[in-house]
Amino acid sequence: MGTMDLTNATRPTRNRVGGSDRDRAAKFSKRMPPSARRSVFIRQNILWPDREPTVNPNRAEIDDFETLAQEFKQLVGEMGADDVGIAEVPPELVFTQAGDLGHRRAIVFAMSMEYDYMIDIGPNSQAEVHRVYHHLDELGVRIAHRIASFGYSARMQPNEGDVPMPALAYLAGIGELGKHGSMISPKLGSSFRLGCVTTDMPLKADGPGDFGLDEVCANCQMCTRFCPGDAIKPDKKAVNGVLRWHVDTPACEPFFHKLFGCKLCLMVCPINARGQFRGRYKELSRDLVKAKDAAGLLDMIAGRTDLRQEDFSGAP
Ligand code: SF4
Ligand code: SF4
Repeated sequence: MGTMDLTNATRPTRNRVGGSDRDRAAKFSKRMPPSARRSVFIRQNILWPDREPTVNPNRAEIDDFETLAQEFKQLVGEMGADDVGIAEVPPELVFTQAGDLGHRRAIVFAMSMEYDYMIDIGPNSQAEVHRVYHHLDELGVRIAHRIASFGYSARMQPNEGDVPMPALAYLAGIGELGKHGSMISPKLGSSFRLGCVTTDMPLKADGPGDFGLDEVCANCQMCTRFCPGDAIKPDKKAVNGVLRWHVDTPACEPFFHKLFGCKLCLMVCPINARGQFRGRYKELSRDLVKAKDAAGLLDMIAGRTDLRQEDFSGAP
């Protein structure tokens, strides 16, 4: 069961990380709070160089990869992930830049971002995003080391890694792709980030789930209405051979950079009303009625935070 047909998928090519406008991306990075910059530094300089550990040449004898898969998932949960699943990795989904990855399984995990910080965008939300990415990468490195100690190859995949994370999260049964281009989950709503470890260890895969979320998107306009860049498209489109929801990245980018990473589409998503932040979403939904659209919501955020309207103005 699943909601996306990957039969005709062709290998995607990763676009430049940070966006196409270098000046704007540089200004975006400069406005990051110190804790976010610290996390970026640690990820790039300590965790990423350690993401593919040396494989133990004495491979462990394992005859039950189903039980081992369960044990890994339990371990990932104990290490702080809010959800976890195992995906089979089709070679057609690996970014062309990664060459022959040689890994056919991925342990994919999700961690929630604090809803209160994310609603008000601004520097606090940047700090929260990078706090979560830091945790995800750290967790991934530890899992990669554990797998390598069994005598199998493993590679922690950061958000900027070899595989498109939402596609693997879908294949791991964590959720479905939302109209806003990110994953939505019946358990976590829309305010979370993903991490993953790819491996040649033949763990039993979970496979995709059909949670009925695709149908919700077909009848919902919230992210479209509150996107300041008009970047979220109402209809699906074939991208790399897969018919799916998609976001007009060049239209999103200027607002993403100007609005501290924006994310308004993630926050206004009503799937949050089903997830662990359902109480907070209930409060937000009252504001959304008053705000009416993206401009109204930005006014409201400027009014209740120490961000000034000038911080948002000029977007793009
Ligand atoms: S806001 Fe609505 S359309 Fe957009 S991702 Fe969420 S449920 Fe889907
Ligand atoms: S991040 Fe902001 S600009 Fe980009 S798609 Fe989401 S709401 Fe629109």
